[in-house]
Amino acid sequence: MANRRNFLKNTALASAGLAFTAFKRNLEDPEIKSISNKITKPIVLSTWRFGIEANAEAWKILNNNGKALDAVEAGVKIPEGNPEERSVGYGGRPDRDGRVTLDACIMDELSNIGSVACLEYIKHPISVARLVMEKSPHVMLVGDGALQFALEQGFKKENLLTPESEKEWKEWLKTSEYLPKANIENHDTIGMIALDSHGNLSGACTTSGMAFKMHGRVGDSPIIGAGLFVDNEIGAATATGHGEEVIRVVGCHLVVELMRQGKSPQKACEEAVSRIVKKIKLRGKELKDIQVGFIALNKKGEYGSYCVQGGFNYAVHDATGNRLIDANYHLK
Ligand code: ASP
Repeated sequence: MANRRNFLKNTALASAGLAFTAFKRNLEDPEIKSISNKITKPIVLSTWRFGIEANAEAWKILNNNGKALDAVEAGVKIPEGNPEERSVGYGGRPDRDGRVTLDACIMDELSNIGSVACLEYIKHPISVARLVMEKSPHVMLVGDGALQFALEQGFKKENLLTPESEKEWKEWLKTSEYLPKANIENHDTIGMIALDSHGNLSGACTTSGMAFKMHGRVGDSPIIGAGLFVDNEIGAATATGHGEEVIRVVGCHLVVELMRQGKSPQKACEEAVSRIVKKIKLRGKELKDIQVGFIALNKKGEYGSYCVQGGFNYAVHDATGNRLIDANYHLK
């Protein structure tokens, strides 16, 4: 009897041991691991309403196991090439001297970076930024030097000032009042961040900047760390809005560092916005005149967004579809 009891006990222990080994093996199985630690990929996010079309283009690459870097470049080229989009690329509103000057930057999963600022006559500054990253020993080229490099790389010199933008500029000249307002479309940048099916992150950011700015003014959009930042270990972020405020806190680097400290993309964007709000108040400026919006994505494909005041939206495309989301905001 005692032997039979021992036998049963030992059998039970042995089968429990077997079950534990099987469980352990399961956890090591990459299939099982991905279930227990779910990652949403591929996924792409971009700023504003024009992000929907841009995401759709990026998705063609992401959904085909393509690289996030290729996807973000192809995506942001859509509004860059569209003259109806008056705050990015071709058709963008000019500076106060009637010159269309463009800013763009790009960053990949290896922390390769490329950027152009105050670039004239080239429809796709993002592709010039990518070549600065890939074919030059530098990370940033500006003004005439950026144009010279673009022409050497085979880009075509084109007039980017469309009749609509010229008309608006001439109208503006009557008062010449420089007053970039929150959410009216005399600015707006496309910032795009993506996680590809290989688990790699990249980002791109491109704009014509603030309409009727001083000639030579550069905002946050081509500044790595301000308008865009990617750390393939942690996540990515991009920004839109009053670039001067974003540069002041090195906004996108801040968002990624907050994610590194364990914050969700949503909480990281909220904290970066509250930092900006604090600095605006400190300088005695009116919050209602300023807009800054961040979008962020982490390595698990979780995302978030936050802005100073209502009106900012962003587009998200994953396997469930492409949608526009209104960002939550600080100033209620
Ligand atoms: N951030 C851009 C700039 O300051 C403009 C914008 O996104 O609205 O040039």
